[in-house]
Amino acid sequence: MKGKNFVAILMFLMMAALCFSSPGYVSAASFPDVSAGHRAYDEIMYLANKKIVGGYSDGAFKPDNFVTRSEAASMIGRALQLKGGYRETEYHDVPKGHFASGYIQDMSNERILAGYGNGYYGVNDKLTREQMASILTRAWTFTETSNLTFTDVGSNSPTYVPINKLATAGVVGGYSNGAFGAKDYIKRADFALMLARVLNPAFRSNPAEPKPIGIAQVTADFLNVRTAPDANASRIGQYPNGTIVNVYTKLSNGWAYVSTNSLKGYVHGAYLKDTDQSTGLKGKIIVVDAGHGDHDPGAIGYGMNEKDLTLITAKHLRDYLEAAGAKVVMTRETDIFHSLEKRVSIANLAGGQAFVSVHVNKFNGDAHGTETYYNGDNSKSAENKKLATYIQKRMINSDLNMRDRGVKEANFYVIKNQYNMPSTLVELGFIDHKEDAAKLASDTWRKKAAYQIHLGIKDYFTNN
Ligand SMILES: [Zn+2]
Repeated sequence: MKGKNFVAILMFLMMAALCFSSPGYVSAASFPDVSAGHRAYDEIMYLANKKIVGGYSDGAFKPDNFVTRSEAASMIGRALQLKGGYRETEYHDVPKGHFASGYIQDMSNERILAGYGNGYYGVNDKLTREQMASILTRAWTFTETSNLTFTDVGSNSPTYVPINKLATAGVVGGYSNGAFGAKDYIKRADFALMLARVLNPAFRSNPAEPKPIGIAQVTADFLNVRTAPDANASRIGQYPNGTIVNVYTKLSNGWAYVSTNSLKGYVHGAYLKDTDQSTGLKGKIIVVDAGHGDHDPGAIGYGMNEKDLTLITAKHLRDYLEAAGAKVVMTRETDIFHSLEKRVSIANLAGGQAFVSVHVNKFNGDAHGTETYYNGDNSKSAENKKLATYIQKRMINSDLNMRDRGVKEANFYVIKNQYNMPSTLVELGFIDHKEDAAKLASDTWRKKAAYQIHLGIKDYFTNN
């Protein structure tokens, strides 16, 4: 904050305190300091037209000024269409002549507002963002909650639930560093954003799914997952050893917020091992080919179609590659059919730097295990073999518990005709073998398989 602004705010506060008068709300069709490009233009105009907010006597809106607790009371009181006016109040610092006396008492009666418990309301104190969240959830009903979290609002905080409810509804968002700014004073522009979103859902944003900052593997036998970054917080589950988790935030107290598909929460970072310390995949263009599709189901066994297993696993592979910084091009992302020629041409058009085709095997019900194929007859033979070998090694030296059927040569079309990048074809396991099929049916197993394939591709780029 600039010193000059601070003095101006102080003077304004002192004047407001001295004469207990409203800061001259002037209903205006426009404010000279809020142009159409302002981040809160639509919301401020919406509230101004409803005479819920107004400008100062000089016509300005002053979007970066902080909101006092009395200003908040009158704006929210007008939004709730309470009686307002001038009245005796229960607070020592809110005399009848104060511009917000009526609204402050209305909202105290409704238990939307509370003073400090010592007979004072804090009439000229600035309102914090978490106080705003509490007031809004008392004044309007929000029921839904989610696992959206902010680094500065632990689940033990009294404002955890109000902030979570408003974030879930798309009324509030956090800063780009993952914090809510709970203790920060709220600016008039942000106050307008929140209030307009409460009153009119059209202004709300879809809360963005937070993006992970990395991937880690659990090293403890069983790692407790808690509701807050604190060993005393309640336990909501456990990750077994070796679980791969997405990491969203790492806190200075050593805790991290992590997730798998089925469980999200706080764990202690001492039991996590970063798995993407190498930059081998950064910026690499990887083409991921899910075998078969649509009227071509591939192999069928134990009620499963190969085309579905390849697509699900390919998508997990894409997620791991992207989290490690690669650019991924999928030959298909839905249940559609592509000719083998088309798959090769997609890879070439994308300028791929590696091509990995995902398949599932079938033979006589007895055969089982993982094998990885390369073509030894094209200009990329040596590279093909390296890529296949790295992937097969990772698949076998893991907790996937698959029989090692080895790295093999073959003339499958999609790897034989791939001249511009190394290519390989992974056969995850046998769909007609009882134990292999049980593994293929498990999404946890498929994720682990995708994770190992991604490590194999990374090995290739790290070592070449
Ligand atoms: Zn196949």
